[in-house]
Amino acid sequence: MLAWTLVVIVSLAWGAYGHRREALNIAYQNAITTITKDIAFRDWVASHGGVYVSPTEQTPPNPYLHFMPERDVATTTGNKLTLMNPAYVLREAQSLYKGELGESAHITSLKPINPNNAPDEWEKMALNRFERGEREVKEVTQTDGIQQLRVMRAFTVDEVCLKCHAHQGYKIGDIRGGISAIVPLKPLFDVEARDIRDLSISHGIIWLLGLAGIGTYNFVRRREIGRIAQQQELEHLASTDALTGLANRRTLMIHAEQELARAKRYGSELSLLMVDIDFFKKVNDTYGHQAGDIVLKKLAGVFLLVLRDIDFAARFGGEEFVVLLPETNAENALKTAERLRASVNDIQVPLQQGEMVKFTISVGVASYSASGNNSVEKLIFAADKALYAAKESGRNKVA
Ligand code: GH3
Ligand code: MG
Ligand code: MG
Repeated sequence: MLAWTLVVIVSLAWGAYGHRREALNIAYQNAITTITKDIAFRDWVASHGGVYVSPTEQTPPNPYLHFMPERDVATTTGNKLTLMNPAYVLREAQSLYKGELGESAHITSLKPINPNNAPDEWEKMALNRFERGEREVKEVTQTDGIQQLRVMRAFTVDEVCLKCHAHQGYKIGDIRGGISAIVPLKPLFDVEARDIRDLSISHGIIWLLGLAGIGTYNFVRRREIGRIAQQQELEHLASTDALTGLANRRTLMIHAEQELARAKRYGSELSLLMVDIDFFKKVNDTYGHQAGDIVLKKLAGVFLLVLRDIDFAARFGGEEFVVLLPETNAENALKTAERLRASVNDIQVPLQQGEMVKFTISVGVASYSASGNNSVEKLIFAADKALYAAKESGRNKVA
């Protein structure tokens, strides 16, 4: 659920970042369109060496062109005309222009002839960067809490410029100045905010659906795991002896049939031990039933310690145990039985009251043979008979 939440947050952040980039890109495109149109417009005027218009109160003869002999002319019918230079025309046009987003443009220079065209601080910074070789500067600025994208492009001196600007010392190819555009970002950021809100809502819904899916999956899985665990527990209980943790008689019989089938199929050897605690009744009578249980558990521990991994010990019933020894002939089975007997003979079992009890076992050994002990019943019967013999010969014996 944490990972899912993280994925949704990252996706939302990525989407929001995309919307911000889109907003800035639109602003930039608008600025560039405005600037390139203004440059084209100025170039057109410059290509004609300026244009003559009827002077008005708004557009009087340009006082900065006083050095031009033909600044003011009259038509053949006596209409007065005055010459407008490119910067003058563009400044007039720019003062009338306000774009769809509220964008505006401004022509400026570090050496303006008309002080009204002087650059502001930001434009000065951009013009200085043009001097160092850059041709375009853009930046998101914040003035009085209003965010705007500012873009400025340089324009260079060509031949027609020199008509008016040669006296300032310009040569062809110099940076004459720049046209800067200001795009207010609020309208674009308003759209962006709406888009991000929609994106958040859709992400929220997907997030909740995901959580519900994960929750449901977990619930179902946990129930399934619980059921499997319960089943395994039941199987364990059905196949294991609760006191000693060894296999029970039922499991032994299944296992013995399998081992016998394998021995028959591959002609391998198989032996079976029948183990019985000597005078176990006396342990119970002397120390109590609980002490008897402790002894039984101890014996199971000895089996695990002394036997090989592939040997299989089971509680056959009461204080009787059976051990299956796969791949083991009678001689080696006798050795294993003797090792078990000796191990038990060597130990003392501490009881809860601190007393130590010693006990012994008798073991009957039987081995599989194709013509004799060739069924599980016969093997058990033979081992039981041998056990009886071991008991008869004095107990703590292997037969
Ligand atoms: P022998 O040497 O002839 O085998 O003598 P024994 O006393 O061991 O044999 P017997 O069959 O007379 O007694 C077996 C005793 O094992 C009787 C029974 O109370 C006890 N017993 C069987 N199962 C358990 C058990 O789970 N816990 C305890 N504490 N005693 C058990
Ligand atoms: Mg016994
Ligand atoms: Mg017995």
